[in-house]
Amino acid sequence: MDASTPSTAPSTADADVVEICRDLIRIDTTNHGGGRSVGEPEAAELCAAWMRKAGMEPELIESAPGRVSVVGRLEGWDPEAPGLVLHGHTDVVPAEPDEWTVDPFGAEFRDGMIWGRGAVDMKGMDAMILSVLVHLARTGRRPRRPVVVAFFSDEEAGGVFGAQWLVAHRPELFAGCTEAISEVGGFSTDVAGTRAYLVQTGEKGLAWLNLRAQGAPGHGSAPHTDNAVTRLAGAMERIGRHPWPLTYTKTTRQLLEEVAEITGTPFDERDPTPQLQALGHARDWVAGTLRTSSNPTGLTAGYKHNVIPSTATGTVDVRLIPGEEEQTLAELADLAGDGIEISPEHQDTGLEVPFSGDLVERMASALDAEDPGAHVLPFMLGAGTDNKSLHRLGIAGYGFSPLQLPSGLEFTRLFHGIDERVPVESLRFGCRVLEHVLEPRA
Ligand SMILES: [Zn+2]
Repeated sequence: MDASTPSTAPSTADADVVEICRDLIRIDTTNHGGGRSVGEPEAAELCAAWMRKAGMEPELIESAPGRVSVVGRLEGWDPEAPGLVLHGHTDVVPAEPDEWTVDPFGAEFRDGMIWGRGAVDMKGMDAMILSVLVHLARTGRRPRRPVVVAFFSDEEAGGVFGAQWLVAHRPELFAGCTEAISEVGGFSTDVAGTRAYLVQTGEKGLAWLNLRAQGAPGHGSAPHTDNAVTRLAGAMERIGRHPWPLTYTKTTRQLLEEVAEITGTPFDERDPTPQLQALGHARDWVAGTLRTSSNPTGLTAGYKHNVIPSTATGTVDVRLIPGEEEQTLAELADLAGDGIEISPEHQDTGLEVPFSGDLVERMASALDAEDPGAHVLPFMLGAGTDNKSLHRLGIAGYGFSPLQLPSGLEFTRLFHGIDERVPVESLRFGCRVLEHVLEPRA
């Protein structure tokens, strides 16, 4: 159905979500990293076409050849209300067709689900946003708050050509906005036979570090105490095996305390296992946010068996608890020890936003309207989203792509996973919830 086509059928928030989601999946928008990608301009055009149907005048912004984001603004009905950013990304991570049951870019219907790369990360949510906004236009209504709608490129490679670039070069697009809604959160999980929706209110920080050990070069046959390879290997082992302590933030503490209450298991902060076990498909994700992690991911040194090289280099992927960044990096330098130089390849800071206030209350009441009695809990993401970029403009970002999921679906494994898919009914549910959140009226 087209917005300009008169129809006697009453419009619904979910009227177009399936069509948009499938059309987006069918555009291969693989982001290979390192600046290489395909399909983003076509996906941005598709989003822009739907934004026009929703009454917006979207702007397509090309940060580099072939890297296109699209941004538009919709006025709200409450002149006092601050702006809200609704954002998604159009790129996806690569899919290896041989590993899949279906064509990753076929958007096939099967078992009540849409299958394809991007179904959950995050073309499903892109489609939900667009379907709801077109519905508002058809029914002659506006959201309460002014809304900035953005579909970014390059999220899967850190947003260098997408959200990061727009925040640095076009910050005026987000003027007046205080909060944002996007991935990854708002999905349901089973907790002790009840349904809980996890709203994402925090993201861990990231530091990709390069380590460089120096030593004296020499012949492999001679006794040698100043060996760069030995020094680096020791540093990497200490960093890789370091038992980072359990560290709770506001978000993770509140989540586990509330799960303890729902399940009737006392929360012992020295051992959160009972609460983690109760979190269903989200247990591993949440476990990953309770401590810093530091994983060695690469080693390079030497060129011949009998030559001791003067340098050895390694790479480490560190994911940090928000607020602990400085102290964690100091501790990593201690673990590395003398004679090792550490330099960041890429670094950002974690974030944590309040699980309170008007917007969070709107999310909770919207979920309650569609799924009465369900729990709504905060959680932290171990990875990052474009909300980190918007955070630099003082915009508090939430992961809220509401999906009521069938029990038994290992949803968290579908992100970047094989046979990524999303239940159609979950998308329809999400559209209804988002419509509530926007508080539309004529
Ligand atoms: Zn994503």
